[in-house]
Amino acid sequence: MEAILNHLNPVLLDGVYGSSFRLAETICATTNGTDSGWLQSSQFLWQRHGLCRQSISIFLVTWLSSSLFYLLFGTVCYYRNFDQSLKKQPKFRPNQIRSEITASLTALLVFNVLTVPIFVAQVRGFAKIYAFGTGSAWYEVAQYPLFVLFSDTCMYWLHRAFHHPVLFRMAHYKHHMFVIPTPFSAYAFDPLEGWIMSLPIYAYSFIWPMSDVGQLVVFFVTNIWTFLLHDNRDQFHTVHHKSIQFNFGQFSDMWDRLGGTYADPDIFFDPVHKRRGQVKFQT
Ligand SMILES: [Zn+2]
Ligand SMILES: [Zn+2]
Repeated sequence: MEAILNHLNPVLLDGVYGSSFRLAETICATTNGTDSGWLQSSQFLWQRHGLCRQSISIFLVTWLSSSLFYLLFGTVCYYRNFDQSLKKQPKFRPNQIRSEITASLTALLVFNVLTVPIFVAQVRGFAKIYAFGTGSAWYEVAQYPLFVLFSDTCMYWLHRAFHHPVLFRMAHYKHHMFVIPTPFSAYAFDPLEGWIMSLPIYAYSFIWPMSDVGQLVVFFVTNIWTFLLHDNRDQFHTVHHKSIQFNFGQFSDMWDRLGGTYADPDIFFDPVHKRRGQVKFQT
């Protein structure tokens, strides 16, 4: 995030904040009796490293880019990958796409607000983020499998926790309204739940070192992965939407196999096994 702000400050943000500040000064000057002293005294808040400016910039960058990315990438996945014949199935809800997009855009707005303090903490040096190329080469590579292991572990248990009847009724049912998911259901979560589920993406960098490039890579890969889980090509997560006691994992099925919640999609969707009434899915 710091690299993005450093790039955007001279080419865009300095101009936007400068114009806004001058506009506010003009309004104060032309409004009879309005004291502009408070504006001058708060000027430091709007300088590049001011808390207000950093927070607003981070929110606008993450909210606008994630919403745009959701609409563009969701549309591409929907038309390229999603089997359109699934829309004829009885469990495909009326106006489902509209509901998924509304829920996802609402969730993105809220959890981008909630994520601002995390990014601010990273930018202000409270995380263990280092500049790409300043660490050892082996760790630059090793941080990715370590992140996948960490994220997979957190996501599996967080996801299982949200299937506790209380939390399910409070929040997670909103995602499971879509029994036949489409790429647009990628962020169709209760906003607070969506934020909690996204915490592993950032938590790693507060516990172990992570390069600035590594944080960006895992951020984008995790988001893309979330779409691919819901485009119905990856039947692993489709099983979870069909039968909520199986396949809680994110990147891998490791924890599902260890936790006894794994259902092999090939067996789960095989009509021969269904006719036989086969209920044991662990392989
Ligand atoms: Zn679930
Ligand atoms: Zn899902």
